[in-house]
Amino acid sequence: MSNPWLEHAMPGINGLKPYEPGKPISELERELGISNIIKLASNENPLGPSPKAMEAASAVLEEAALYPDGNAFALKRALAEYHDVDAGQITVGSGSDHILELVARAFLGPGRSAVVSRYAFAIYNIVTQGASAELRIAEAHPADHSMALGHDLEAMLALVDDTTRVVFIANPNNPTGTWLKRDELVSFLDRVPRTTVVLVDEAYFDYVDDPDYPNAAAMLGDYPNLVVMRTFSKAFGLAGLRVGYALTSQAMNDVINRVRLSFNPNSLAQAAAAAALDDQDHLEKTVSLNRDGLKTLDAGLRAMGLTTLPSACNFVTVDVGRPGREVFQGLLKQGIIVRPLDGYGLPDHLRISVGLPEQNERLLAAMREVLA
Ligand SMILES: *Cc1c(COP(=O)(O)O)cnc(C)c1O
Repeated sequence: MSNPWLEHAMPGINGLKPYEPGKPISELERELGISNIIKLASNENPLGPSPKAMEAASAVLEEAALYPDGNAFALKRALAEYHDVDAGQITVGSGSDHILELVARAFLGPGRSAVVSRYAFAIYNIVTQGASAELRIAEAHPADHSMALGHDLEAMLALVDDTTRVVFIANPNNPTGTWLKRDELVSFLDRVPRTTVVLVDEAYFDYVDDPDYPNAAAMLGDYPNLVVMRTFSKAFGLAGLRVGYALTSQAMNDVINRVRLSFNPNSLAQAAAAAALDDQDHLEKTVSLNRDGLKTLDAGLRAMGLTTLPSACNFVTVDVGRPGREVFQGLLKQGIIVRPLDGYGLPDHLRISVGLPEQNERLLAAMREVLA
């Protein structure tokens, strides 16, 4: 059957491949007929959500017949207090993926370009090409650099010209785990044209343990072209509910909200996120568990002679010295899901999320067996 309409999809859509998410546990259970599977593939919080967040979500479930607050008043008020900004500087979305789409819709299109780093978060590519804009990829730092495969802001700046409407910076970056220091970021922001929007994605902000790590949200007053993005999917353990947000100048907020459809995020997500923000105990537990787990995983993998990338996140990216897909398959057979990175142009690397202590030990034991 012919599909003559197909060639009329927007030009950027043709070259695009859908995002490959981490394999869900239920799928592997069906495939292999085994149980006791652990998923260390999508950087989720192994402690689960805050009990306060679950309670808040359950309470609004009874109001599911009603539309959510399209302006997310309570969540924005909580976020405004948390970040000491005006509520008019906050845009909430159904996951930070949604924020990326809003920025792309507001600023990207044919004849415009966006700059990313090689090995950056795949969604930047999808929203850029999805808007039929040109994606410019700056080479990352080389493997022997202290931030191996991380963003090289000088290389990114060199690709910015007068067609460049957005630069996407993940700090720290997924899937490498690498991060930028304050001086580097400030120097970049000082030199990038003010006509270009700089989106700093801080999805892993709470995990970072480096005094030189910059909090971009504190720089909003200096750079009106800055969009700082955060999410409830990682340290706050609410990936399944889909809540992310942007902190910006009021003027930026005004623009990106013109294309935002109301009623995102949904009412459960709004209530859970506000409650999660209020549970600093859970956040501290999460961060401290992660710090220990990251050390265990990193040291364990290195003890096998493998090379890991420096990570400020809740995952470690490791060069397994052979096709990562094979090792991924081997681990699957042992009931452990990790993330192969061939789709990111890193065929010998795997990304492994930090789990509970016993899960980390199980991963290390399985890895030893698969590599033997
Ligand atoms: C996980 C992640 C996000 C969060 O995405 P959500 O849509 O909020 O779940 C954003 N950016 C990066 C770099 C990530 O790794």
